[in-house]
Amino acid sequence: MTNLEDAPATDIADTTWQDDVRAGVRHVRDLASLPLSLGERAAAQEAAAHHKVRIPKPYLDLIDWNDPADPIRAQVIPSAEELVATEGELDDPIGDHAYSPVPRLTHRHADRVLLFPTYQCAVYCRFCFRKESLTAIGRGYTSEALEPALAYIADHPEIREVILTGGDPLSLPDKALAEIFTRIEAIPHVRLLRIHTRVPVALPSRITPGLVEALQGRLMVSVVTHFNHAREITDAAEAACRTMRQAGCVLLNQSVLLKGVNDSVEALEELCRELMYRLGVKPYYLHHGDLARGMAHRRTTIRQGQALVEALRARLSGICNPTYVIDLPDGGGKVPVGPCHVEAREGESWRIRGLDGEVRDYTEVVG
Ligand code: SF4
Repeated sequence: MTNLEDAPATDIADTTWQDDVRAGVRHVRDLASLPLSLGERAAAQEAAAHHKVRIPKPYLDLIDWNDPADPIRAQVIPSAEELVATEGELDDPIGDHAYSPVPRLTHRHADRVLLFPTYQCAVYCRFCFRKESLTAIGRGYTSEALEPALAYIADHPEIREVILTGGDPLSLPDKALAEIFTRIEAIPHVRLLRIHTRVPVALPSRITPGLVEALQGRLMVSVVTHFNHAREITDAAEAACRTMRQAGCVLLNQSVLLKGVNDSVEALEELCRELMYRLGVKPYYLHHGDLARGMAHRRTTIRQGQALVEALRARLSGICNPTYVIDLPDGGGKVPVGPCHVEAREGESWRIRGLDGEVRDYTEVVG
């Protein structure tokens, strides 16, 4: 089994990213070195016993410890609120397990599957919707563990996209990623490999020439990053995204709408602009907070989310606008829940609200 800290360093750049992991918070006991009050520390230690803690040094260094409401801190430092489960929250908020025909694979939509090469991450986010799986399963990568999933993909010609998720696939060493990539590439009906990762956000030193080399081949590769706040967009993150772009990866970003982190028009506007203009990463989805346990204090209402994206739509160009979605429980998929601009319709006549708030008539003309 490959564990993050034990992964062999294969080149100088790899040594750097593994050092960044080792120098950060890796265990509950490391929380004692952080500038927390006695009460905060006790709560953090208790919460970390339920959902693992890991914070690479570069991400830890982004925290402003003078600000108790710091948006970076809110995403990674365990807190007492996490221990409060609210009725309606779920262990498996989007139905991964119900659609898992073989271990380490979820097949919810005909043309694509989720593949879980590891249940470990470079950073453990407090809002994670898979936190129960990461805690309950928690296993790292072995080639044997993936065999049933790879055989399933090979046996299902309708699968066009394989989505590596987890856990964080880019927390694996290059050798393991190259092995996985080669096996998937050999399945002729697979066209696209998608990689969902927080690594460019929390551990950008991991994006090395050796890593992108491992992703070169027949398959189109899309990397879906998970930036949630403009403060996460650093020089190192910019360099990591440039490396991936230059290697031909299509870069998209999914954010989670989080109360106290990015639930203002200003925060989302700056995030989306910096993603597109500085990183060359298209803002793709803005997720309404999933029903993960202990996260009520970070969820907004859907109405608040709709008001935010409506204001964003008026401020940002189309390419900078993400789609506001809810990933429905029981495997219903990602469904857009943004505001509707259609006010009324009668036959071919529509009443549609413009970005300036004015309602205009639009009459369909078809041949
Ligand atoms: S990196 Fe992704 S899977 Fe891992 S804890 Fe964060 S949100 Fe969850």
